[in-house]
Amino acid sequence: MMDVVQNLRDIKETLPGEVSLVAVSKTKPASMVMDLFNAGHLDFGENKVQDLLEKQEQLPGKIRWHMIGHLQSNKVKYIAPFVHLVHGVDSLKLLKVINKEGRKNDRIIQCLLQIHIASEASKFGISPEDIDQTLQSDLFKELSFVKIRGLMGMATFTDDSAVVREEFKNLKRIFEQVKKDHFTGAPDFDILSMGMSDDYKIAIEEGSNMVRVGSLIFGPRHYS
Ligand SMILES: *Cc1c(COP(=O)(O)O)cnc(C)c1O
Repeated sequence: MMDVVQNLRDIKETLPGEVSLVAVSKTKPASMVMDLFNAGHLDFGENKVQDLLEKQEQLPGKIRWHMIGHLQSNKVKYIAPFVHLVHGVDSLKLLKVINKEGRKNDRIIQCLLQIHIASEASKFGISPEDIDQTLQSDLFKELSFVKIRGLMGMATFTDDSAVVREEFKNLKRIFEQVKKDHFTGAPDFDILSMGMSDDYKIAIEEGSNMVRVGSLIFGPRHYS
């Protein structure tokens, strides 16, 4: 039996004070989330809308649900009433839909822009070259029911920690630049979400202040 509470404690002990931890519960039962909630943990992440909805319905309303996976425009409406932070926003089109659903629910939805930092072509995200253009567009300025809290990124899936470190370093640099160029006077542009079970320590060394950790807390995932 996996002691998820002990695993979480062990990780939390190693985190600097300013780093928050999203426990990624995807594919894991609601009972495990409940164990962590009972131990005082509030932030949980899922990467599929359907799973997020199912867990949200079963579990206490105090839980802060993070949507960490790729979000399709047509599914925003399901999570808009309650989602705490959307990590994977990668287009203006999606932001526009989130804004519309935010307005409908009369709530400002917090988002992170996902930046493509990995060398793999498969990973989602806005390319660093396009970020300025996205943030300068008139459409972006009209979005009053979304709040951009920062950036999110995923490193290349590789054992080469030098590659991972370089990508995180790059994202931190982009974060500082974007903050300076587009969010001066917006102190709540303050979240840099990077790092997972295998690379969260490197991510923190390179400036992450939010890590998304799954298997290290919940054990390996088995996809059927
Ligand atoms: C699954 C997932 C994680 C957690 O992965 P682990 O390696 O299990 O820690 C973090 N971020 C995203 C976007 C994920 O999809």
